[in-house]
Amino acid sequence: MVDFNELRSVVRGRVVLDVPMNQYTSMRVGGTCACMFTPADTDDILKFIAWSKDTGQRYFVMGSGTNLIVREGGVRYPVIRIKHTLDSMEIESEDKGAVRLRAGAGMPVAELVRYCADRGLSGTELLAGIPGTVGGAVFMNAGTGEGSVADVVEAVTFIERSGRTKTYGRDEMGFGYRTCRALSASSIVVSAVLALRSADATKVQKKVETVLKVKAQTQPLNKPSCGSIFKNPASGVKAWKLLEEAGMRGVRVRGAMYSELHTNFIVNTGSAAAGDVLALINAGIEKVREKSGVRLELEAVIIGDES
Ligand SMILES: Cc1cc2nc3c(=O)[nH]c(=O)nc-3n(C[C@H](O)[C@H](O)[C@H](O)COP(=O)(O)OP(=O)(O)OC[C@H]3O[C@@H](n4cnc5c(N)ncnc54)[C@H](O)[C@@H]3O)c2cc1C
Repeated sequence: MVDFNELRSVVRGRVVLDVPMNQYTSMRVGGTCACMFTPADTDDILKFIAWSKDTGQRYFVMGSGTNLIVREGGVRYPVIRIKHTLDSMEIESEDKGAVRLRAGAGMPVAELVRYCADRGLSGTELLAGIPGTVGGAVFMNAGTGEGSVADVVEAVTFIERSGRTKTYGRDEMGFGYRTCRALSASSIVVSAVLALRSADATKVQKKVETVLKVKAQTQPLNKPSCGSIFKNPASGVKAWKLLEEAGMRGVRVRGAMYSELHTNFIVNTGSAAAGDVLALINAGIEKVREKSGVRLELEAVIIGDES
């Protein structure tokens, strides 16, 4: 068994043992993780990776946990948390209105969107209202019907389990609907270069406000959740519609409930455990399959052991 205390002598960043994951995920459920590591910088990640290779230790990378469901049994391996670190932002070049902005993986998407709107940089408006970090948004190719990260990213720098640092252009990333082929579960995104355009700041701010307003009207933002639970099927029918037709709107398992405002959100009404959320997910999959023959696919990421 690896002693995670050892890690403290290897890295400079923060190492905390037995961390309750319900405090680190927006769904607010789940058991503890054995070890949470917040790297000081990219070099610290490389040290961690070397240690994980030497000890044969697996790990999980999280941004800010807004798309994560952690099971009650918790996570027995280290979780590298990229929120509150690697959060720099730098304009790399400006040429005839074309602006290249490098954002660290730990930069909150909300701050990135605000930064761009304040400076009249257009391109990130479509990410307004998406919680989480730049790294998480890249891994998930986060977005809406209007577009996704793939539409604004020019290049991504990431570290692989082998310890190699790679920079890939957008076309090499293999972005798909909420996926990114170039990244494996152990890849760690450290930064992304975004291709933006100079624009009228008032127009950019207006667009952001409109997107935020629509989200506030259509998503249950006042309750803990992890956003959309299921991906929209390739047929074009929305997952929320299939769930609604299958009678899942407002259906509960103890403290977990399919939102009445947006049926593809499961909200934690205050006392949900991971098992309640997972039971609702299974019920949703089953009912939709029975009603419409469609097999729903998860968008949310589930980690950890059963209790
Ligand atoms: C209220 C609400 C609304 C939402 N609305 C949207 C929406 O409109 N569109 C949308 O697409 N999503 C939405 N989401 C889901 C979520 O916010 C996005 O998927 C977001 O991009 C996840 O970012 P994160 O940093 O929280 O990642 P996490 O939840 O921490 O992780 C998600 C995945 O990304 C990986 N990951 C995270 N950081 C890194 C990194 N640095 N390197 C490598 N892998 C990494 C993790 O391993 C995991 O597999 C919503 C969530 C909530 C709670």
